[in-house]
Order: sequence, then C-alpha cells, then structure tokens
Amino acid sequence: MNNQDISVIRELVAGGTPTPFYYYNMELLRKTLQEIQQQALKYGFEVHYALKANSNDRILQKILPYLSGADCVSGNEIKKAIENGFKAEKIAFAGVGKSDREIDIAIDEDIFCFNCESIQELEVINERAFLKQKIVRIALRMNPGINANTHHYITTGLEENKFGINRWELDKVMLTLQKLPNLKLTGIHFHIGSQITDLMPFRSLCLKVNEIQEWFDNQHINLEHINVGGGLGVNYEQPDVENIPDFAAYFKLFHDFIYLKPNQKLHFELGRSVVAQCGSLISKVLYVKEGIKTNFVILDAGMTELIRPALYQSYHKIENLSVPPDENGFAYDVVGPICESSDCFGKAVSLPLTKRGDIIAIRSTGAYGEVMASQYNLRDLAPSFFSDDL
Ligand SMILES: *Cc1c(COP(=O)(O)O)cnc(C)c1O
Repeated sequence: MNNQDISVIRELVAGGTPTPFYYYNMELLRKTLQEIQQQALKYGFEVHYALKANSNDRILQKILPYLSGADCVSGNEIKKAIENGFKAEKIAFAGVGKSDREIDIAIDEDIFCFNCESIQELEVINERAFLKQKIVRIALRMNPGINANTHHYITTGLEENKFGINRWELDKVMLTLQKLPNLKLTGIHFHIGSQITDLMPFRSLCLKVNEIQEWFDNQHINLEHINVGGGLGVNYEQPDVENIPDFAAYFKLFHDFIYLKPNQKLHFELGRSVVAQCGSLISKVLYVKEGIKTNFVILDAGMTELIRPALYQSYHKIENLSVPPDENGFAYDVVGPICESSDCFGKAVSLPLTKRGDIIAIRSTGAYGEVMASQYNLRDLAPSFFSDDL
C-alpha cells in the first residue's frame, strides 16, 4: 500500500470514521482500466465488465468510460448496469439459473446477448420472447472440459461442473434451436473459472474454441461473436509488486491462438482483474489474545465483510498500518469477531508487534469483497471510501 493511501486511511480513522470500511484507490483503478483499454484496442477486442466482482455505483461510474460493455448474472445486475449508463446493447446475460422474471427484464431491455446453458433454458427464453413478439440474440455457453488449475470452488469449465453445454450435447441443442424461431444464435461463450494466473489454461481454451468453431463451420453456421469469458487472476501475494495484471500478455495470447473469421468479434468478461487490487478492507484490532502456538489478533472486520478466506481458503495480504513493517515480526492468527471457526483471515501471519487499536489493511479486496457482504450476526454493512474524495 502506498504512503499516500496509508496516511489518508490513518487520517480517516483518527478523525473518528468507524471501522471496518472498504477503501478504494481510484487512481490505481483508472490506470488498470487504461491498460485494459489500450491492450484490448490493439486487436479490436471487446471487454465487458463482470458486475458481480464489484457493483458499487462509484466503481461502475469509473469503469464506464473505459469498458462500455457489461456482463451480468442477474436481472438486478442488468438494471444496475443500465442505471449506471451501460448500454443495453452491450450487456451479456450469463447464469445457469435465469428466472422468468429476469429473462423478461433482459428481453424488455433488448440486451446484446443471452449466454444460454441448457436446452430447457433455450425453450423458456424462446417462449418468453414469443409472448413479447421479439427475436432475441443468444450465445451457447459451451463447457470446454478444461481444468483451470484454480480452487475447485471457482473452476467452472469441467464436465462435472453445473455450467454450460457439453460438446456431445451440441447436435441435440442445434436440432432444438431449429424449432425455436424467436431465438437467433449469434455466438458461443466460454468461462473456465476464476483467479487463473497461469496462461496455459487460456491457451487450451483457444484451441478448444477453434475446434468448436470448425464444427459450426462444417454445419455452415456463421457466428458473429466468440466470448471467452473472464478469469484472469491477480497477484494476491504481492499486490504492490504487481498491482496491474499482465493484460498485454493475456490479450496477445488470444490474438495469437484463436482463429477468428472475418467480421467475427472476440469478447471478454473481466471482473477480478479489473477491480481486485484497488480495494482494501480496513479494520481495527479489537483484542490480542494469547493462543497455544500463535497469538490471535481479533479484528472488528470478519467474514461478513470479506468471505473469500472462509469460502475459498483464499489468501489476502494483511498489513498493520499503525506501525512500520518489522522483518523480525511475530506470527499471529488474524481472525474476525463472527461466531464461526472459519472466520479467519490468515494463520501465522507475520506482523510487527500488534496491539489493540492498530489499523489493519486486508489487501486486494476490490473484487468479490463488498459484493459478498452479509449481515450475519445482525452486523451493519461496512461503508466504502474512495481516494478521489479524500
Ligand atoms: C464470474 C464471471 C466472470 C468474471 O470472472 P472473473 O474471474 O472475475 O474475471 C465472467 N463471466 C462469467 C460468465 C462469470 O460467471
């Protein structure tokens, strides 16, 4: 965390701002967006922002000028994107369980595309579209059978996962589509998982896309777009060393390995890589309690503010902002106040000598942080602060 951020946060807390709260470095977000825009533009790729990573209005407002497309996974996300200025014609709607009400919202808004995941879903969307006398654009979400080598809870591209249509179902799907006149097939969609830091799975995805393209070619079906989803990971271990993911290498890989037809557009849906590094969860130490092997640092933030460690055993860098870092620090188990043993942000975390009242930053929490907050234990929702206001 840079010195400017640290002093702003210290001032906020000294001025009586209650903890916990989220803090966003909007300058880092802007730089990240600029980099994405620049790198994607090189190849004419279209990037949709995946709202589910962070749908705070202020964050969406910042993103809009750079990434005009949105990727939504609920009817309310579609409404939220439109309220914040995203154009309906640039909204993709994904999700394995779209309700009739959500489908209707998307049809009424004339969105870019439904990413469809099953035969029954296609039939329902066709039926809803028929009732409204509309023809809606759909893409088939294909399950490419690729292991993203990420946590099994965020792997989505294997046949055993609930997501997408398997290659062997394709014939049946295409027969069904012929009987659904209110649907127009415009593309194919993939999303293999999240927090993918090694580019090899994306390379495998490219080869799979080419293979499936060939199948459509043989059927003389022309696809207007290919959507390869999101999933690019961030460096949670060293957020200051690599605060912007390597978008240049990421987009270049798709450029090098996917064979696009003339007039065919490649779409991406990035969430985590856009917003993760700009956010930190700021908390205060309530108590330091003696343990058997390590002492416990008990924070006023818990899994209600940030559930990722409890849900996916994910790592977040933890820093004490009240005292300078100390190489010969102490190992603490950093935990929250919630009545669950999984309410733990890190075990044997090396921190300088830490005491009640110290300010603690949990880093890289801009994605899947405040959007996953809950009020379990009847806790208040944590507010957010933005560097460009402070
Ligand atoms: C979650 C999700 C994304 C975004 O994933 P990130 O790992 O945050 O980039 C993109 N597309 C779909 C369909 C998703 O479900």
